[in-house]
Amino acid sequence: MIVTVTLNPAVDIAYKVDHFKIGHGHRVEPGRKTAGGKGLNVSRVLKKLGENPVCTGFLGGNNGKWIMDQLGQEELEHTFIEIKGETRTCLAFLDEELGTQTELMEKGPVVSEEEQEEFEEVLKQLMSEAGMIIASGSLASGIPASYYREIGEWARAVHIPILLDTSGEALEKGIEGKPFLIKPNKDELCNYMNQPDLTLDEMIAAAKKICGQGVQYVLVSLGKEGAILVGNDHFLKAEIPTVQVVNPVGSGDSMLAGMAYALQKKYSLEECLKWACACGTANAMEQGTGTIQPHIVQELIRKTKITQEEKG
Ligand code: ATP
Repeated sequence: MIVTVTLNPAVDIAYKVDHFKIGHGHRVEPGRKTAGGKGLNVSRVLKKLGENPVCTGFLGGNNGKWIMDQLGQEELEHTFIEIKGETRTCLAFLDEELGTQTELMEKGPVVSEEEQEEFEEVLKQLMSEAGMIIASGSLASGIPASYYREIGEWARAVHIPILLDTSGEALEKGIEGKPFLIKPNKDELCNYMNQPDLTLDEMIAAAKKICGQGVQYVLVSLGKEGAILVGNDHFLKAEIPTVQVVNPVGSGDSMLAGMAYALQKKYSLEECLKWACACGTANAMEQGTGTIQPHIVQELIRKTKITQEEKG
């Protein structure tokens, strides 16, 4: 069983607004409302691959109830802690004419210490049955930046691999928990290294430095350029096919789902990287976020090339 952790889910509402203009009113059709959160996207893709993941985290208020109801409709198993605060709403304004997307993202509710303790109990319980934990996204207010480090430590104590996908301070501190794998994109790795840009060699060096801190693998996603997977004593590079891109949002989440799926099946590292890239790319080919078609994933796996280099 794979458990996905989403500490700050959201009700996402996307409006189509042609000629979006700041400071002006716009009449719009009803927005498209979805249960958002990186861990939920990961779960959706895992479900499409035939897994039965369990989603956990914090949900509260009417938005929280709505998300739980949606997850029920999607037949996604969930065990969320119900909190006093209201789960956030995030708004996106899509201007198809200009090809722009403007977003307003609420920070999220405050999660109290008691609610965090309740979550610790639930997650530790889930860990007694889980084969892998995937923790993704930002931290809700009130949750210390070191929370992913703590989750990493709980997982390590019971020998369960944890895959972490977050950014900024949460990533910095999360690395100290020695997760099995982290998945920064290039920008997130640059931020971590305090650099405006990094060459491929610099990315490999940065990833190796992170591995030196106890992380087994660093999967750096590079959008249409593919990805690299760096371990302590070697690195793999994936070249992916060119495809018709419809909506790449959520490709990172889909990639993590593909990686988790393949790791769990104990495929070789090369195969794991192929699965990860194929799921990311398959998502980019769909309109929905966290959506893949398994037969397209198979086709993309066949077209993905992995090169391997030993680097001491
Ligand atoms: P997000 O935050 O939207 O989830 P991300 O920045 O974490 O995304 P990306 O690097 O954009 O992650 O994408 C993850 C993977 O998805 C890439 O490594 C690649 O395999 C695939 N992918 C993303 N964008 C494209 C694209 N335009 N064409 C083909 N594949 C893509």
